[in-house]
Amino acid sequence: MDMPNLPRRIVIAGGGTSGWMAAAALARTLGPVAEVTLVESDAIGTIGVGESTIPPLVAYNRLLGIGEAEFMKATQATFKLGIMFENWKDQGARYFHSFGGTGKDHWSAGFQHFWLHAQTQGHSEPYDDYCLELKAAEAGKFAHLPDDRINYAYQLDSSLYAAFLRRMAESDGCNRVEGRIAHVELDGQNGDIAALMLDGGRRIEGDLFLDCTGFRALLIEGALHAGFDDWTHWLPCDGAVAIQTASVRPPVPYTRAIAHEAGWQWRIPLQHRAGNGIVYCSRYMDREAALEKLLGTIEGETLTQPNFMSFKTGARRKQWHRNCIAVGLSGGFMEPLESTSIHLIQRAVLRIVRMLPAGRPSDRDIAEFNDQQFTDMEQIRDFLILHYKATERADSPFWRHCASMEVPESLSHKIDLFRETGRVFRRNEELFAENSWVQVMMGQGILPQSYHPVAAKLSGEELSYLLASLRENVTKTVSGMPEHFAYVSHYC
Ligand code: FAD
Repeated sequence: MDMPNLPRRIVIAGGGTSGWMAAAALARTLGPVAEVTLVESDAIGTIGVGESTIPPLVAYNRLLGIGEAEFMKATQATFKLGIMFENWKDQGARYFHSFGGTGKDHWSAGFQHFWLHAQTQGHSEPYDDYCLELKAAEAGKFAHLPDDRINYAYQLDSSLYAAFLRRMAESDGCNRVEGRIAHVELDGQNGDIAALMLDGGRRIEGDLFLDCTGFRALLIEGALHAGFDDWTHWLPCDGAVAIQTASVRPPVPYTRAIAHEAGWQWRIPLQHRAGNGIVYCSRYMDREAALEKLLGTIEGETLTQPNFMSFKTGARRKQWHRNCIAVGLSGGFMEPLESTSIHLIQRAVLRIVRMLPAGRPSDRDIAEFNDQQFTDMEQIRDFLILHYKATERADSPFWRHCASMEVPESLSHKIDLFRETGRVFRRNEELFAENSWVQVMMGQGILPQSYHPVAAKLSGEELSYLLASLRENVTKTVSGMPEHFAYVSHYC
């Protein structure tokens, strides 16, 4: 068998979170086998938001050999145990979507079935009481637990994360080029990308190109016209404005997502400051009103000028096209509601490493990559739409539109199945597990009409014992945990 003829020159266009996440992983994994070059423009800069993450990032950092305390110090990170959703089901209502599981699943049926049965037997304790991460978050507590018994992610400054990864990538041999890409040169014969032409006439040749140029999508769309699936009819928000503020209280281990009449607002507490932003639908709210709303609700001294962003929700039809792969915002965007963008970068980067072509990319590799990445995006899309669709809010045209809109068949099936039977199935390594769907569906007001008969198998005494011991375990573990920020300060 011949030695694989690897694409020796990998060129990454763009140095935001996606560019540096890719560069750090490729330089560390491939070492001298490939020559990794990253081109970025200081004058253009990065999007400057992206602070809330989900648990797989912990594994990504471990894979790259990154020490957690050092990483948290460098990125001013706090721990995150989930998201508090306020005013989504209705004004004044709130629920928590936490990481980790709730109660104890049986192989045949998730814990929600046992909890639903218990409700019919006179047990009135809320579903939330059986979730460790949720109760720790509510109590403002955190600690690492033996055997990774607590699921967590980070709230971080993504510009600092990119800078941290840059140092790592450069020390692993990644070559950084500063300059503006003025033109993408195509190979006249096969239509692949041949080189990036920079201002001043510099030419960067490559075999494989990663498009990390953000919403501009200079390579995948600008040069290769990969196409875009527009999802704005399901995810109608298309604008955001962000402001950073000084902290006014110790950071809590969760992100807040507070719905308003035409979108929602985030609050993400880091060690040194807080991230705040309004996401809105421009059909129902203009940017001045969004800014006014944001300024009227933030706490603490403002540290930055308002950062206005416009976006279109959807996904690049071909994430990998010819010798170019979209990573990050160039591949699509589904708004930041469940903090999934950095995760999609991570998934793309790990797939690129696994599917690195031996020579010119094969059509099979490309088709497999596109299928996997697109399926991830569609599954996340459905989960996000759920938050808008399953609402009892009728107080504004925006919410009336959301409640009445058609949703993808894949989502209506999931909602109907849960409503009828209490069941949720996870398909094809879907990101969001059963408990995530259960928490959000019940939090948004969808209650099952029946449950798995296996739940009725327990006697009254067995059921009471099971529920009490699960609750006691949660309460006891949480009461032994330190206050979150005290733990962070001591840890890094
Ligand atoms: P960018 O940060 O835009 O980087 C693009 C890079 O390309 C820059 O280095 C730029 O200089 C370079 N570039 C562009 N054009 C050229 C050129 N001509 N020549 C040279 N270089 C060029 N994600 C989360 O996971 N959690 C969140 O909480 C979250 N919140 C968000 C809130 C909002 C409102 C938005 C819009 C996004 C949010 N995201 C979030 C998404 C997250 O910000 C991005 O996924 C992440 O920052 C990666 O962006 P990027 O690297 O793809 O693009």
